[in-house]
Amino acid sequence: MASVQYLKGVGPTRARHLAKLDIFSVEDLVHHYPRSYQRRRPVSIASLAESSGKLVLVNGTIVGTPRVTRRRVSVLTATVSDGSGHIKCTWFNQNYLASRLQPGTTISVAGKYSREYGNIVVEEHSFEESLPEIQPQYPLTEGISNAVLVKIIKSGLEKHREAELFPADFREEFKLTSAQGALESIHQPQSLAMLKQARYTLKFRELFLYQLSFLYWRRLRQRQLGRQHRRFPHLQTELEKFYGFSFTRDQVQAMGEIEADLSRSQPMNRLLQGDVGSGKTVVAVHAMFTCAMNGFKAVLMVPTEIVARQHYDSIAAAARQFSVPVHLLTGSSSKSERDQISSDLEAGGGAVLVGTHAVFQESVTIRDLSLVVTDEQHRFGVQQRFALAQKGENPHVLAMSATPIPRTMAMTIYGDLDVSTLQTKPGGRRQVKTYVVPTSRRKDVFAFIQREISRGNTGYIVCPLIEESEKINALSLEKYQEILAQGLPDSRFGILHGRMSGAEKEQVVNSLKEGEIDLLLSTTVVEVGVDIGNATFMVIEDSQRYGLAQLHQLRGRVGRRDKQSYCFLLTPGSETERLKILEQINDGFAVSLEDLKLRGGGQFLGRRQHGLNEFKLADITKDRRIAEESRTAAIGILDELDAAGPWKAVYKAVSANIANLKS
Ligand code: ADP
Ligand code: MG
Repeated sequence: MASVQYLKGVGPTRARHLAKLDIFSVEDLVHHYPRSYQRRRPVSIASLAESSGKLVLVNGTIVGTPRVTRRRVSVLTATVSDGSGHIKCTWFNQNYLASRLQPGTTISVAGKYSREYGNIVVEEHSFEESLPEIQPQYPLTEGISNAVLVKIIKSGLEKHREAELFPADFREEFKLTSAQGALESIHQPQSLAMLKQARYTLKFRELFLYQLSFLYWRRLRQRQLGRQHRRFPHLQTELEKFYGFSFTRDQVQAMGEIEADLSRSQPMNRLLQGDVGSGKTVVAVHAMFTCAMNGFKAVLMVPTEIVARQHYDSIAAAARQFSVPVHLLTGSSSKSERDQISSDLEAGGGAVLVGTHAVFQESVTIRDLSLVVTDEQHRFGVQQRFALAQKGENPHVLAMSATPIPRTMAMTIYGDLDVSTLQTKPGGRRQVKTYVVPTSRRKDVFAFIQREISRGNTGYIVCPLIEESEKINALSLEKYQEILAQGLPDSRFGILHGRMSGAEKEQVVNSLKEGEIDLLLSTTVVEVGVDIGNATFMVIEDSQRYGLAQLHQLRGRVGRRDKQSYCFLLTPGSETERLKILEQINDGFAVSLEDLKLRGGGQFLGRRQHGLNEFKLADITKDRRIAEESRTAAIGILDELDAAGPWKAVYKAVSANIANLKS
């Protein structure tokens, strides 16, 4: 790929600045899309009076000689005429232009018209052609102005040829422009209509590739055989006996649906969705034990190490009764542990493996793998899901998510999936009472916590940062220890954050479980899956920094038994209205819909913690129509290929395109 450095107008310094925008090649440059657009209306000088304070565009010729005055900044003025009148144009700090502004020169200027000063402060000008009416606004970085980007992207586009993905008749059918045309129009729109069509074309392509890959994956899987499992009719009651509670109707139904899938040779593709605390884990355990007892292996993949350990502990306890071996594999497993587990997994026979991403890296081979379960599905990116599909001998796949989303959107994100839903929570559970509290009243919250602790209850306080930061104005665990020492001097607290080792985390979570400490001071690492029964309070500092769905997840760490639990959302006073939604709504489905309205859908696409989105332009919450149309198109293409049958080749093309999409 051609390095951006050698493009006209770039050079080594600008190349360094551009790197901060992740622009390294000409290819990257032309895919750096505008964030928004500014419109400046072409006006005649005679009608300028109506446009005071507005951006305008004037085409005319220079009359008279330009003038330069030096004050703190140097000011260059020239008069422009367009036949309807004269207007003074002003440039700041651009004296070098004076020699070009000779009488009779044609010029196009854009800038803000001020009636008071009777001038236009020029932001952009051109001697060659009329400036475009629609001006793109790019995401910027230090050292790179919008005008610079406009210019170098223009020369980038002259060098670049965008590969055409869709044949002409296809483009006609779905009303798409050519790939190169779309790219040019998104940067240099000649009209709003062209811009609209360019955006449509590019979004269509993103959504098309994404969905094609999933639909393709699904078909590929359907034509391979998975393992068929025998049912164990007593497993359910025996698990109930072990846990000491009976399963809810929804749990029983989900277990039945999964069992039926597992008994077929077609591999399962199922999403199990249910709010935090709805009891998804036991459903997964039932499925995994079924596999293990059939002599196959099942994997539970979770996003964090603490959750992995916790699941491992509880699953291992249950598994003893059923003589199912359980293994734990995380990023901090030692080399010798890994080797041991690897050789266990390469051996035949049934087992359950609980692990973090480490499981899917490198060289772990799992013999007779028949089921892969992913917990907190939305935290995994597309690549990880692909890695999954390729692992083992076409395993059944169960994805679990606490962030329920509308069915049509689930289709876009996950491709074609069957869905089981846990609608009701296990009985006796009360709603978590939630209060938005100004930070200035923290001591009231502390008084409340004091009371809970004296009753033998425990809880969590969550801060955004580990250490103080100069860049981010938010509370840190470091600072908070002083606040606690003052506000709750008798409390025993432990600290939990992502930089601690697995063993350290485990130890502190255990000491809360055992009641050796009263509360856990933590970052959002407690967000997923930590399950401690007598935790009744959750305090979230700087809660305005989080999305509603994430706050709901955090809140889900309390109220896990029948005790009344409380959540305090502290905020220095900003965004109170938004946070108050959580005082009213306790249901995860409703919360995520509210969040969708407020924040868009990127967070459902995985890799959320890195703040990345799979799409550059498309927003699955708003672009549902495009999502549906591109989906229809993808299905059409797969049907055609199905008839022809060159599956392997398509798979390669699709994978390569997915990689491109993200580059
Ligand atoms: P999530 O869906 O958030 O993963 P979990 O599976 O962690 O929820 O379950 C939350 C808690 O509810 C756990 O402590 C679990 O043991 C308990 N639980 C699950 N099912 C039931 C049930 N049917 N009756 C009572 N408690 C249950
Ligand atoms: Mg869970």
